[in-house]
Amino acid sequence: SYDEMVRTRDAHLVPCLKSYYKKPLLMTEGHMQWLFDHTGRRYLDLFGGIVTVSVGHCHPKVTAAATEQMNTLWHTTAIYMHPKIQEYAKRLTDKMPGDLKVVYFVNSGSEANDLAMLLARLYTKQFDIISFRNGYHGMSPYVMGITAHSTWRFDVPVAQGVHHAMNPDPYQGLWGGKHCRDSPVQTTRDCSCAPNECEAADKYYTQLEEVFKYSLPRGKVAGLFAESIQGVGGTVQFPKGFLKKAYELVRINGGLCIADEVQTGFGRTGEHFWGFEGHGVRPDIVTMAKGIGNGFPLAAVVTTPAVAESLGQALHFNTFGGNPVACAVGMAVLDVIQEERLQQNSQVVGTYFLQELARLRDQFPCVGDVRGKGLMIGVEMVNDPVTKAPMNNKHFIDLWEDCKNMGVLLGRGALNGNVLRIKPPMCITKEDVDFGVAVLRKALQTHTE
Ligand code: PMP
Repeated sequence: SYDEMVRTRDAHLVPCLKSYYKKPLLMTEGHMQWLFDHTGRRYLDLFGGIVTVSVGHCHPKVTAAATEQMNTLWHTTAIYMHPKIQEYAKRLTDKMPGDLKVVYFVNSGSEANDLAMLLARLYTKQFDIISFRNGYHGMSPYVMGITAHSTWRFDVPVAQGVHHAMNPDPYQGLWGGKHCRDSPVQTTRDCSCAPNECEAADKYYTQLEEVFKYSLPRGKVAGLFAESIQGVGGTVQFPKGFLKKAYELVRINGGLCIADEVQTGFGRTGEHFWGFEGHGVRPDIVTMAKGIGNGFPLAAVVTTPAVAESLGQALHFNTFGGNPVACAVGMAVLDVIQEERLQQNSQVVGTYFLQELARLRDQFPCVGDVRGKGLMIGVEMVNDPVTKAPMNNKHFIDLWEDCKNMGVLLGRGALNGNVLRIKPPMCITKEDVDFGVAVLRKALQTHTE
């Protein structure tokens, strides 16, 4: 029974693994954009198991590919060849620009970033790393050092030599809270200056230059880590042109640029297959996880032959990375994205979603900001739209629980936990958006009257 499962969970699972909602949901089935609990109740999944179910729960084509491979060959490790790993490496890197053509398969986003940091240090023979405040790059003790978000840090030795630069935040930003961003939804708070000429972006850039000047030995750096849109941090978008200039600065000083595409890859941002393309940059290393496997444990680091060479013939190894089943799943995911035009769907349905949410923002003062691109959306909830103080926790939880009670599951993020995160399977439709927005509107009406 449900109660018995809760008791077993409490006795045998680590307590830090907290479930969402006052009464945790017990999910027993998933089909495309829908999840079903143990009572058979259906929910619209607007969070996709944290941006991971990219093409839909139990997508039949992905399930068939996994099943077929499971009936053929499960595991070899890299000590033998198997047909799928070559084919998948080729297909995945075909999606990449330039000479980003070499892949190392791993099992999670943390592991991918761990390896990216090692590669940057080996290749450049430098030690120092820069990442942005409010960024999330994983939870292994090593990458905890680049995750610049106090919620996700413990008082243990983490990667040393990491410097956290100020993250531009167009809504709460330190410099006027007003600068351009790349989103189909404009607000009166957005900047009207010409692309790449944003004054606030320049101030953040100056601050980044100061990191080089004051914190780095001889200004040298091994690498810069950046998400294309900060995900866990609350869907925070850097101003146009900022990342491009940051990349230039890093390269002038000998460093590599690492794009963390764990959330923004695989067409989620709609306009492009990779989030970094939206910034007009080309990284030296790209890390990916989550949506790559639609929920199957799979992650990857893609880089250039030259950077990959820096591992030399060292015995750098992992047991499960690129196993036949993971590769079969990964290829099926790529097929489905293409065949069902899910990147285009992300753009069309995502833009519609943003527009509908912007109408809520104009109607309810507690909806402070609506932002994002494609199906990577954030809604910042505030107590007061002038001070932008975060909505108090109880109010937020009441709203969020109400949406769940009406059949809509939303994510939550940002340092203050006051941003609704909307990152559904990319197969959702405009009708689903209408349902989701109607539910949110109802919850807002109930809790703001
Ligand atoms: N990078 C980003 C941008 C992420 O959002 C996450 C996970 N939330 C990670 C890295 C770490 O991935 P994992 O949980 O698979 O280790």
